[in-house]
Amino acid sequence: MNNPDWSKLPFGYFPTDYNVRCLYRDGKWGEIEVSTSETINIHMAATALHYGQEIFEGLKAFMGADGKIRIFRLEENARRIRESAKGIMMEPIPEELFKEMCVKVVELNRRFVPPYGSGASLYIRPLEIGMSPRIGVKPGDEYLFIVMVTPVGPYFKEGFANTKICIMREYDRVAPRGTGRWKVGGNYAASLSAGERAHSLGYSAVLYLDPKEKKYLDECGPANFFAIKDGKYITPASESILPSITNMSLQDLARDLGIDVECRHITVDELADCTEAAACGTAAVASPIGEIDDLDTGVKYIISKDGKPGAITTALYNKLNAIRLGEEPDTHGWNTILD
Ligand SMILES: *Cc1c(COP(=O)(O)O)cnc(C)c1O
Repeated sequence: MNNPDWSKLPFGYFPTDYNVRCLYRDGKWGEIEVSTSETINIHMAATALHYGQEIFEGLKAFMGADGKIRIFRLEENARRIRESAKGIMMEPIPEELFKEMCVKVVELNRRFVPPYGSGASLYIRPLEIGMSPRIGVKPGDEYLFIVMVTPVGPYFKEGFANTKICIMREYDRVAPRGTGRWKVGGNYAASLSAGERAHSLGYSAVLYLDPKEKKYLDECGPANFFAIKDGKYITPASESILPSITNMSLQDLARDLGIDVECRHITVDELADCTEAAACGTAAVASPIGEIDDLDTGVKYIISKDGKPGAITTALYNKLNAIRLGEEPDTHGWNTILD
């Protein structure tokens, strides 16, 4: 397999040389296995297939300005996947094992880490699946943890620009005390029809409201939401959203810039007073939002008056990118630098 054309990479699957795997069986994790296969052998009655025992993570490795590879916030992802595992009765992966396997798979696939300056990166996708055959509804006792990687292109092909999102009360992706706080595949299945509907209407995402009262903002499909209001960084506090590591990082960077951060309930009406808004997550860092249309009330919230991404969103975006690429000092200790 040849190297990809870095400038033409989409955010999609591109095969690499290796993936790494580890099986939990008889009450313990086994040896790390290096595989060249793109497929897995799975029992047709496995809990992953029937009862949704599937969790995952998403993080990135970058070729730095100094020619060293950096993985961004490896520890936080290691911690979060354990929470997801506990949430749906799967075996938590030891943090050290998670980190060792992520580093190993990046090293094995060094030639797929896009060059510095290309805007592309190596996306790391760890996943854990339940392997035990079950017909009665019950958690399994065998789990497979795999870490695969794939090079991905820059998220903003046309440059960093505003998108439009919508509020639609007809669908929820998670329940009030459900699985929203964990990164489980099932949440994504539950979001597909609303997402496709939004795309067909010309929106990049759905801004979900809290599923209990439909009064407060929750998150933007597969990304968290933040806004700038009265010069403050505001982001929803909610039991039904996934704690985004990008959001946490942007909050720290905002504080570094002297910007107040409020993690609290945000009502839909408050959108009228927001001067900036964005969806945030590993894929895009921050995707600025110019307009939010409430499809049920017909209200259009024009966030960006001049059609351009806001100054604070842009500054935070640039700062986080610069840290990931080793262009600016990593004062918070977020990068794992490979040898
Ligand atoms: C992965 C994910 C995010 C973004 O999290 P990051 O750690 O910033 O990549 C936000 N919301 C949901 C529902 C997610 O699954």
